[in-house]
Amino acid sequence: MGKSSKDKRDAYYRLAKEQGWRARSAFKLMQLDEQFHLFEGAKRVVDLCAAPGSWSQVLSRRLIENTDSTSSNEERPRIVAVDLQPMAPIEGVSTLQLDITHPRTLSTILSHFGNEPADLVVSDGAPDVTGLHDLDEYIQAQILLAAFNMAVCILKPGGKFVAKIFRGRDVSLLYSQLRLMFRKVTCAKPRSSRASSLESFVVCEDFCPPPNFQPELSKPLCIVDPNCTHEIAPFIACGDLDSYDADATYPIDSTSKTTPLEVVQPPTAPPYKRAMELKHQGLL
Ligand code: SAM
Repeated sequence: MGKSSKDKRDAYYRLAKEQGWRARSAFKLMQLDEQFHLFEGAKRVVDLCAAPGSWSQVLSRRLIENTDSTSSNEERPRIVAVDLQPMAPIEGVSTLQLDITHPRTLSTILSHFGNEPADLVVSDGAPDVTGLHDLDEYIQAQILLAAFNMAVCILKPGGKFVAKIFRGRDVSLLYSQLRLMFRKVTCAKPRSSRASSLESFVVCEDFCPPPNFQPELSKPLCIVDPNCTHEIAPFIACGDLDSYDADATYPIDSTSKTTPLEVVQPPTAPPYKRAMELKHQGLL
């Protein structure tokens, strides 16, 4: 499939390139924000599993570029982005190439906030898909669990946590666990997320840990708790009904749109990098 064919088939893929977003996922965060006002008053934000960085771009454009230029360094929002992969720089975002499952990552993030707690933690974490369904689902659940454990150690009371989930077998158990820590938990499906995908996002509002709760990454919270009641979380679709439907195909009618656009940010460390080098040297 060529570049232009994907441009034609996926409206959000094309739109992302037109608007300068590194990935089409930017629209998912923006549509979640339209519904839940995630960025209101957010001064310290953590973007977990952030590469190539379209969510961090959204955070930067919404929080940093809207800040009064006369505001002091203290008042300026701080954004920390973490990923296993290196990320190209984004204005106002501190990028860390770290593993979110490693306990030391927590203290490194907090040091960027002067050890103050965060207002918002977002996580769009996903593994490299193997195609082995059970394995992929398991690793995805582990990434979510790592992000959740990180969030409960970082957030201030009243803070918000947003994370990608794949609605599988144990989803009601997961909601129940999240409800132990947050007053409101909603499962949301942005319009830019394909209906054919199991992907959706848990939006957890008003962080209110139980009294005497001491977050500790050395004793992480575990999702599998047999005593936990299975609750049904509210599920909503979000995003303007006038916006593109991710599963629809739109005709390209203007001539300018038949020209494929360049990608906004080529991958910094793609898995095929070595193969490309060998190919250029005529060794493959
Ligand atoms: N939100 C990103 C954006 O808008 O550009 C896209 C995120 S991408 C779907 C998922 C990311 O999760 C990948 O870049 C991957 O490297 C990262 N990831 C997976 N496991 C991780 C881990 N243990 N620690 C840090 N990042 C991880």
